[in-house]
Amino acid sequence: MRAVIIQGPRKVQLAEMTRPVPKEGQVLVRVRVCGVCGTDVHIYKGEYLGDYPVIPGHEFAGEVVEVGPGVKGFERHDRVAVEPNISCGSCRFCRLDEPNFCENWRAIGVTKPGAMAEYVVVPASAAFAIGDLSYEEAAFMEPLSCVLHGMEKLDVRSGESVLVIGAGPVGLLIGQVARASGAARVVFADRVASRLERAAELVADRVADTSESWQPAETPGGYDAVIEAAGAPPVFERSIDLVRHGGRILVFGVAPRDAAARVRTFDLFRKGLSVLSSYTSVRNSEQALELLRNGRVRVDRLVTHRLPLDGFEEAMELLADPEGTMKVQILPGE
Ligand SMILES: [Zn+2]
Ligand SMILES: [Zn+2]
Repeated sequence: MRAVIIQGPRKVQLAEMTRPVPKEGQVLVRVRVCGVCGTDVHIYKGEYLGDYPVIPGHEFAGEVVEVGPGVKGFERHDRVAVEPNISCGSCRFCRLDEPNFCENWRAIGVTKPGAMAEYVVVPASAAFAIGDLSYEEAAFMEPLSCVLHGMEKLDVRSGESVLVIGAGPVGLLIGQVARASGAARVVFADRVASRLERAAELVADRVADTSESWQPAETPGGYDAVIEAAGAPPVFERSIDLVRHGGRILVFGVAPRDAAARVRTFDLFRKGLSVLSSYTSVRNSEQALELLRNGRVRVDRLVTHRLPLDGFEEAMELLADPEGTMKVQILPGE
């Protein structure tokens, strides 16, 4: 089979290798669609948790083509999406029911061979039947699961006003989940005009350009909840000014490891703020598929590029340009 292998920082190779064989409890998936995300860029640049060499790709859907011994509930030709995080079930964090912090954490496409390949072996327990969802939509199960975990912590209630700063693909998932949770107003801020246009078409009641000075006129006193979806510490600083007294901030964007924010902790105290954050997901996959299936979260407008396997490096370049790129998907069968 063909696979993208990252040998080291910025060293990518399209290699021919032996197709893996599913062992006990595993299934072999023929990858149809794999989304490219910021984590892949971090691995590519040498900034993240992964070990080299690695086959990247953790947001994917495909077809079961072989079933390992002892697997129940799946057979050939089943259409599935896969939850990439694998926890051990027995460490302290797994026992606390917080498997996203598992001390023996492994992930398909990060520490184990991923889905930027024609085939990938996965634990059957990590595969989810997608019914008649398209592979393209089902490949959003993983990023949407992460969004759902964060939004569960933020706990948006009916009638609330929500500001999402950062109108990238993840921001637009967040906005739609906020809407589905009953938010009365969903406002987006970003500095890229084309992203704001898309946000306005898809979900936003109002959009604001962050390069101008702007205040939430319709929400005097600030938003009930603000989501930092840009991965930029200055955006977090701004969130503190824009959230109401007693409001909540969710830090969702992945900032550069060493970047710091300047915060007057007095402001947190005086405004009585809750600052929340979330890391990956905790059993949100079924929920994600359900929202995709019934159209409460729409992802078709988020995909701007579809590339074959040998387009991985092109994808890395495309993602550096927020002006023209939203979600890039790799189609290994093309
Ligand atoms: Zn991802
Ligand atoms: Zn564990």
